[in-house]
Amino acid sequence: MQIIYIKEDKFQYDIHSLYKAFYPAEEIRVIIGEPGSSHEKEKDISPNDEISFIDVNKTKNDLKKEIYLDLSKKTGKELPWGDLTGIRPTRIAMNLLEEGRSDKEIQEYMKDTYLVSDNKINIAIDIAKREKDILKDIDYLNGYSLYIGIPFCPTTCLYCSFTSYPIGAFSGIVDDYLSCIEKEIDYVAEKFKDKTLDTVYIGGGTPTTLEPDQIRRLIGYLRAKIDLSKVKEFTVESGRPDSITREKLKAMKEMGVTRISVNPQTMSDETLRLIGRRHTVAQLVDAFHMAREEGFDNINMDIILGLPGETSSDVAHTISEIGKLDPDDLTVHCLAIKRGSRLFEVIREKEISGKLKIPMLDTMSDIQNMADIASKGAADMGLKPYYLYRQKNISGNFENTGYAREGKAGIYNILINEEVQSIVALGAGTVTKRVYHQGGRIERCDNVKDVKLYMDNIQEMIDRKKKLFEED
Ligand code: SF4
Repeated sequence: MQIIYIKEDKFQYDIHSLYKAFYPAEEIRVIIGEPGSSHEKEKDISPNDEISFIDVNKTKNDLKKEIYLDLSKKTGKELPWGDLTGIRPTRIAMNLLEEGRSDKEIQEYMKDTYLVSDNKINIAIDIAKREKDILKDIDYLNGYSLYIGIPFCPTTCLYCSFTSYPIGAFSGIVDDYLSCIEKEIDYVAEKFKDKTLDTVYIGGGTPTTLEPDQIRRLIGYLRAKIDLSKVKEFTVESGRPDSITREKLKAMKEMGVTRISVNPQTMSDETLRLIGRRHTVAQLVDAFHMAREEGFDNINMDIILGLPGETSSDVAHTISEIGKLDPDDLTVHCLAIKRGSRLFEVIREKEISGKLKIPMLDTMSDIQNMADIASKGAADMGLKPYYLYRQKNISGNFENTGYAREGKAGIYNILINEEVQSIVALGAGTVTKRVYHQGGRIERCDNVKDVKLYMDNIQEMIDRKKKLFEED
């Protein structure tokens, strides 16, 4: 463990993230105050006393640069994203493009201010330009997007960090849950009647755990209450192939869904079993073909790099099999398993008894190699990167990237990532985000995660939104 003592109650998150990026496998603690009598290893970085706190951003950037250069010297490492600790590096490039800055100016700024590598700067500019083009017809001010969370799944994956309940045990409450969503829709219909709904995203969980009639009921209610005529994209995450049936695909198509996800995560049956997904590669392939047969021409697939037991050659196999299916959109996630996590402990049991290799935070080169394979595979499929975000609280080198065919990029993904438009979120465990158009202020309110608490307190959930959107 490393303990960092700082004198001012400022920039703890940035300092912590920067240390974590250099020492991904170590526990890092940032403490305000002087070193005490701890026996633990101490590292007093004492941010320099001469720094003025009048210009907070400049101070923060100067401080981070100083720490970065110091740690880089000590460890002999250079980080591709330099000392950038936020989760959205493309936002910087996007803001500068919107100010009318040239590529060269952006390159100089990102290099001088954050020490970002040339490769990453070029990726950030490339993605920001694509995002800007995709969002050009979106009216941030008079438009909004809608997210509906369906928190049920066929089974719970071992690595899951979302709100998810196994449908088997919860199927009896789904209709009542939909009634609560309908109450939230009533609020949105009234409050946003003068606004334009740009995108709808039904996620989860796994929305396709809903039966065909429940899918028709939910989307039918939405259509009856809210004008969807201007909606540019209507996504339903159909993530788990073991939840997809032809009837459900027909129901979604009939109700105007334009984009779905059919997620393999890996094309290895052995890994799928290990991570508790309880579906096979063959089921995935069948579900994908079925979706094409039912007319879906915008299908996203998600994969995860760094799954337990997987090496670069497994990722190469996954990419090659996905290439045969020819999806329109591919999202590449990195999974970093932390020592001591639930997944780590479960897999360790198997590692002891078998011969599994767990990609860990301290074997980042493996993940980087896998990311390169995925990136090249996406390019070979004709997909270009269109959004990117770095993972919170995990080593600074990992990022999730969305790739898509021309005209098939997920607009909602960009909107939520770049935080340029308000997103109203309905359902248990969802977060509504209000974007103000003066000063870039963003305010949030959340719905409780527990599905029963959510249902019992539905009026309170609506009141939170009322409060968030009450002043214009
Ligand atoms: S399908 Fe997604 S939401 Fe459902 S359990 Fe697996 S990771 Fe969690």
